[in-house]
Formats: sequence, structure tokens, C-alpha cells
Amino acid sequence: MRLILLGAPGAGKGSQAARLGRKHGVPHISTGDMFRDAFEKKTDIGIRAHGYWGQGELVPDDVTCSMVEERLESGDCSSGFIFDGFPRTIAQAEMLTAAMERLGIEVDAVIQMNVSRETILQRLTGRRVCERCGANFHVKNLPPAKPGVCDYCGGGLVRRPDDERDTILNRLRVYEERTAPLVDYYRRTGKLVDIDADKSVDENLEEITAILEARS
Ligand code: AMP
Repeated sequence: MRLILLGAPGAGKGSQAARLGRKHGVPHISTGDMFRDAFEKKTDIGIRAHGYWGQGELVPDDVTCSMVEERLESGDCSSGFIFDGFPRTIAQAEMLTAAMERLGIEVDAVIQMNVSRETILQRLTGRRVCERCGANFHVKNLPPAKPGVCDYCGGGLVRRPDDERDTILNRLRVYEERTAPLVDYYRRTGKLVDIDADKSVDENLEEITAILEARS
């Protein structure tokens, strides 16, 4: 399965990509997670990228695209992948289309997850992530079994630094300017399906699963 999840920050792309990846046995590729991991490891890319994501700005396309191209060529992507947070600009989408053409593969579906601004703010301000494995939780919508502790690996749950209110507002502005135009780009390919993602994680998963089954 080759899937792209599009949507504003807080649309629920990460929660869906993690579940779909586990269910279908394909890698969940989150460029945001890749940048955060690289920063933890203090690599050159990680340190350079942090100057952007710490402010809610996009990391430049050349850095992002070369990281993704390398990831696409790794062995585990031969069975498919789920992109979460990539592409985020028209230039990134064009690079992905060209890279997939070179590899002789096609995307099965692009899901546009639509959410209201109110839901976005509620989700992002209540989001907690595992500092060890990166799993996502929410204080109200998706609480862990034991408060502050990851259900999957027992790691501590923390708030992402870019989930602070001013940074969220900047991320939403950047989304409207740079990422929202991708909806038209993918609509023209005939692969785009819109969903109303204001619902619960389980309801959204059910809807995406039905879309994928109808297309297989
Ligand atoms: P995310 O975890 O997807 O919300 O991404 C966190 C941050 O990483 C974003 O706000 C950007 O600064 C950066 N980032 C993630 N993916 C991309 C991308 N495809 N292009 C540029 N910057 C990205």
C-alpha cells in the first residue's frame, strides 16, 4: 500500500498513519519524526532543521527532499509506505512524483483530512507524545491507560515544544500558504479523497479503511 495523508497540523495524520502502518505492515514515514530524531542525535540535518521547526516554519525543500529520497530507496519501502507530513509544498510533491516514476511505482490514494480550526487547537494543545517511541496521545480524546506513561513502551509523555499556542498559529498560517495548494495538485491526479476528520480516531480509521478497501 502506498498512501499519502494530507491535512493541517492536528488533522490526525500521525495517529492514522501509525495505525495503518501497523495494520498493513508498511513503514509510517513522518518527516516531522525524522527531523525530531535527527535533532536528538545532533546530526547536521537535525540541528539545521531545528532552527525551522522550533519556530513553526517549514524546513527548506532541498534538505527535506534529499532526506525523503534516501528513505524511499531503503529496503522496507519496497512493500509500500504511508507518508505523514510529506509532501508539504508543491516542489516536494513534484520531487515525490518524479522519484516514484523513476522507481516505477504509483501512489494508491491521497487522503485529505479536513478539520475545523476549533478541533485543531483543541487537539494540538492537548496532544502528548512519548519521548521514547514518539506515539501520540491526547489528554481527553486519547488518554493513555496510566496518566503520563506511554501504553506501548512505558516512556514518559511530554508536550511537543511546537505545540505552544503562538507556534501553532504560525504552523497554521504556513499550512494555508504552502501546503493547502497540494489539494488541487493531487485532485488533478484523480487519487485524492476528502474526509471529514473532525471525528474520533477510530471513526476516521474506519472511514480511511473503507476508502482503501473500495480502491483495492
Ligand atoms: P509534524 O510532526 O509533521 O507536525 O512536523 C513538525 C515540523 O517539522 C513542521 O512544523 C516543520 O517545521 C517540519 N517538517 C515536517 N515535515 C516537513 C516537510 N515535509 N517539509 C518541511 N518541513 C517539514
